[in-house]
Amino acid sequence: MMFDVIIIGAGISGTFVARELSKYSLKILVIDKHNDIANETTMANSAIIHSGLDPIPGSLKAILNVKGNKMYPAICEELNVEFKKCGSINVATNEEEIKKLRALENNAKVNGVEVTWMNQEEVRAHEPNISDHVQAGLFAPSAGIIYPWELALALMDNAITNGVTLALNEEVVNIEKDNHFIVETSKGKYQSKTVINASGVYADVIRNMVCKPKYEIHPRRGQYFVLDKSEKGLVNSVIFPLPTEKGKGVLVVPTTHDNILVGPDSVFVDDRSDTMTSKEGMNYVRENAGNIVDNVPMNRVIRSFSGLRAASDIHDFIIEEDGEVKGFVDVAGIESPGLASAPAIAKLVVSIIRGILNPEEKTDFIKYQPTTLISNLSREDLRNKMIDDKSYRKVICRCEVITEGEIIASIKGNVGARSVKGVKKRCRPGMGLCQGGFCEPEVVKILARELDIDPLEVPLDSKGSNILAKETKVGEL
Ligand SMILES: Cc1cc2nc3c(=O)[nH]c(=O)nc-3n(C[C@H](O)[C@H](O)[C@H](O)COP(=O)(O)OP(=O)(O)OC[C@H]3O[C@@H](n4cnc5c(N)ncnc54)[C@H](O)[C@@H]3O)c2cc1C
Repeated sequence: MMFDVIIIGAGISGTFVARELSKYSLKILVIDKHNDIANETTMANSAIIHSGLDPIPGSLKAILNVKGNKMYPAICEELNVEFKKCGSINVATNEEEIKKLRALENNAKVNGVEVTWMNQEEVRAHEPNISDHVQAGLFAPSAGIIYPWELALALMDNAITNGVTLALNEEVVNIEKDNHFIVETSKGKYQSKTVINASGVYADVIRNMVCKPKYEIHPRRGQYFVLDKSEKGLVNSVIFPLPTEKGKGVLVVPTTHDNILVGPDSVFVDDRSDTMTSKEGMNYVRENAGNIVDNVPMNRVIRSFSGLRAASDIHDFIIEEDGEVKGFVDVAGIESPGLASAPAIAKLVVSIIRGILNPEEKTDFIKYQPTTLISNLSREDLRNKMIDDKSYRKVICRCEVITEGEIIASIKGNVGARSVKGVKKRCRPGMGLCQGGFCEPEVVKILARELDIDPLEVPLDSKGSNILAKETKVGEL
C-alpha cells in the first residue's frame, strides 16, 4: 500500500503531528521501534508547559513555545488531559543573579510572555519553603504542568480512531527515494509520498539514511528524583534557578499526580540509549536543589530516572522539508521546550505537508472518545463501574488504589498496554510508594490473561525485557 505520510517516531512530536494530520484525507502510518508509544524522551522529562520566557527571541524555540503554551488549555480540554496552570518562578540568590533575572524579564517581554517581578517577601508568601538564599523571583503565570504520556496516548488514540495506522516494534533501518520513499523496517518495507522524521535523539541517523548530513544530535542526559505524594505542597509552582547555556538548571516541580520532581542535571552522553542514573549526577541534583528550596526531603525519594535531550549543533528546532530530497520533513533537535511547543510544532508540520500534498480537510473528523483507559477513574466513575462489573471491585494497586477493571481497560482499545510499564503509564499501578512491590505480579497475571500469552512472555518494558525467567513452583501462577 502507498501511504501519503510515514511518521517515524511516536513521541509527543510524532503523535501530535499524526493527530493533526488525521484531520485531512491522508493515508498515514506511524512507526516506532518500541512496543509502546512515547517510550523515550517524551516519558522522561520535567513535564512543564513552559511560558516561553527564556528562549532566544526570534528562534523557533521562542516562537513555537509561546504559541504552544497558549494552545495547551484548549487541546487538553479536548483530549480530557489534565493541564495545571501552576505558574513558574525563576529565582535569583545574589546581586549578580538579580541582574541576570532582570535580563530574563526583558527577554520574556520581547517574547511576548507576561511576567511579574517578585521581591523576597513576595516569593516567600507564594512559596513558604523557598530557600533563604532567594532574594527575588520572576513569576510567569502561563506556565503549567501536564502528564506527557497521557497526552501522547490520547493523541495517538484519537489519530487511530481517525484512520491512522500505528506500527509498533518496528525499527526503521533504511530509507530510499525514487519517485516515492521506500521505508525499510525490521519487519518489512513501506512506500510513501512523504516522510516525517520525528525520531528524537536518532533524528540525524534517520535523516542521513536518505538526505545529506545537515546537523548532528548530541544527547544530553538529565536525571531526576521523584518524591512521594506525601510531599505535595513542598512547592506550589515550578521553581527554576536562572537558565544557563546548559539548560534550565535543577528545578523543583510539582506533578499532576501530586508527586514532586527534583532535577535534572545536564551531561552529554555518547550512547543514545544511555538512560542510566549516576551517583555523581544524583549528588549534583541533590546539592543544587537545596540552593532554591529549603530542606528538600530526600528521605521521601521513591524513584530516580533520566531522559535524553535531543540537543543539536544547530541549537534550535529544525522543522523543514529538505531542500533536495523533496517530501522528507525533519522534526529534529526537539529538546526542551519541545513538549511545550508540541501543538505549535504540529501545526507547522501540517502546513508543510499541506504545501506538498494539498490534501482535503475531512468533514467527518471524530472527536476524542477514549478507547484505552488513560489515567485512573474518578471515585464517582469507579462507583458506577463497580455496580455492573466486579473486576472494578478488586483493588490491585493499594498505593494508588487501582482496580483490576481499570488495568483491563488500559490493555484494551487503540493503544492498549503490552507491558507492565505500559499498564503503569496508563493507569498508574506501581507509581506509588511501594513502586510495584505488591501489584506487579498481579499486573503480569492480568496482562498474560488478557493478551492470551504465557506469563513468562510478559515484558517489563521493551520487547525482550521479560520479568519471569522460568516457572519455579508447580500450580497456578
Ligand atoms: C531531562 C529533560 C527534561 C525536559 N523537560 C521538558 C519540559 O519540562 N518541558 C518541555 O517542553 N520539554 C522538556 N523536555 C524536552 C521534551 O521532553 C522533548 O522535546 C520531547 O519529549 C521530544 O519528543 P519527540 O517526540 O520529538 O522525541 P521522543 O519522545 O524521543 O520520540 C522519538 C521516537 O522515535 C522513535 N524512534 C527513534 N528511532 C527510531 C527508528 N529507527 N525506528 C522507529 N522508531 C524510532 C523512538 O522510539 C521514540 O519513541 C525535556 C527533555 C529532557 C530530556
